[in-house]
Amino acid sequence: MKTPLSKNEEANIRVGQQMTLTIKSLGINGEGIGYFKRKIVFVDKALPGEVIHAEVTEVRERYATARLLRIVERSAARTTPPCPVYAECGGCSLQHMDYQAQLASKQEIVVESLRKYAKLDNPPVAPTIGMDHPWGYRNKAQFQVGKQNGKLVAGLYQAGSHKLVGLESCQVQHEATTKIVQATRDILEELRIPAYDERKRTGVVRTIVARVAFVTGEAQVTLVTATPDIPRVKELILELRTRLPELIGISQNVNAQKTSVVFGDKTVTLWGKPSIAEKLGELSFDLSARAFFQLNPEQTKKLYDQVKQAAGLTGTELVLDLYCGTGTIGLWLAPYAREVRGIELIPEAVEDARRNAARNGAANASFHVGRAEVLMPKWAKQQGIRPDVVVVDPPRTGLDDALIRSLLQVKPKKIVYVSCNPSTLAKDMARMLGTYELVSVQPVDMFPHTAHVEVTVRLERKDTVQ
Ligand code: SAH
Repeated sequence: MKTPLSKNEEANIRVGQQMTLTIKSLGINGEGIGYFKRKIVFVDKALPGEVIHAEVTEVRERYATARLLRIVERSAARTTPPCPVYAECGGCSLQHMDYQAQLASKQEIVVESLRKYAKLDNPPVAPTIGMDHPWGYRNKAQFQVGKQNGKLVAGLYQAGSHKLVGLESCQVQHEATTKIVQATRDILEELRIPAYDERKRTGVVRTIVARVAFVTGEAQVTLVTATPDIPRVKELILELRTRLPELIGISQNVNAQKTSVVFGDKTVTLWGKPSIAEKLGELSFDLSARAFFQLNPEQTKKLYDQVKQAAGLTGTELVLDLYCGTGTIGLWLAPYAREVRGIELIPEAVEDARRNAARNGAANASFHVGRAEVLMPKWAKQQGIRPDVVVVDPPRTGLDDALIRSLLQVKPKKIVYVSCNPSTLAKDMARMLGTYELVSVQPVDMFPHTAHVEVTVRLERKDTVQ
């Protein structure tokens, strides 16, 4: 008897093989997806609708990866990336695609996920809300420092590698942030304060983090160092203050570990204030060096407004803000609800959320440390707490199994699901669509020129939908 062929043998693909492919769609990392004898082939920088020539670089059981050699038929959406280091830097992945086409493909990715995992033929996905000017949107630059050819460079790693790409400018960053990084790098070089060398485990500075408040213009810089001491620190501070008058605080974070995690536990203020003031709509925030804040403030407002619209509040509701981080969604909704309760795992984030609530006079908002899947059912059982609206904004892994079960027990009239991963969103939907109706799905482009897709979904309990 003949043994069945594996997909690899069936497609007979090997590394180094060249092939012509028609690109059908975009993958979740922005790669083009084509099929060779029914086997899926990922080709970086190829666009849907294009016919391309490619060389296979990797063969796996379920897919192959190929390198783009030549474009045979070019997509009308192909455009010249403005960034000079786009080919090397791992920060963006869609700059070669026209912005309107990026928005359309992000909508399509959400539609396809819901078709595939939630078995919805025609999911109600609205066109992606984009930016009028999709550049200079990031309020924080977090650039690694290293030495290349005897010079200090600051930049980002190549995609999937540890090779540092030095950046002189970066079009997706707010100008103020790259200016701060460049000036800091120049000063470190002039004062001969060495970059940390990961392999040798010598040197001092690992990362430069610059953040600017879009509304107030206040800026902060944080140096992540491998050692508690920075040589010539007084001169460093003086130079930073002189050349960057927009700085209102200079901080140091110490991370002595051999790790790719950027921050260590200890942060000290070297000069000025520990935090900057920022506003988002009507809300004010104090952002310390380590405090989490959404990276694209302009789109965050649009995202939160979508959450507000989906929640449809009248002022009488009890709203739960699950996975609340520093409480920004809950605080955005608090003026329109009777009460807001947030749940978040990380105690520091909850402290920030409480401070933010006090700062904004949100007396009807409280924030609690814990696991959403534990606290929500506990409140329901012990205190009879029945939320009218539950907002969830989980990490990429989606909702915890236990949380879905308890949502289906607690059964709020409305659920607003904010997701940064269409696949886990659609899989979670599949489990909820017996009880809930999917009313609307709204993608919002938080990170233009990258493959990230953010979505708000409005679910209503079926017995309440007219
Ligand atoms: N809603 C926030 C950001 C949410 S990011 C905003 O708009 O800014 C997701 C958050 O979920 C993270 O802060 C993470 O710490 C938290 N988290 C992860 N697992 C959790 C769990 N099981 N219960 C509660 N919070 C959790």
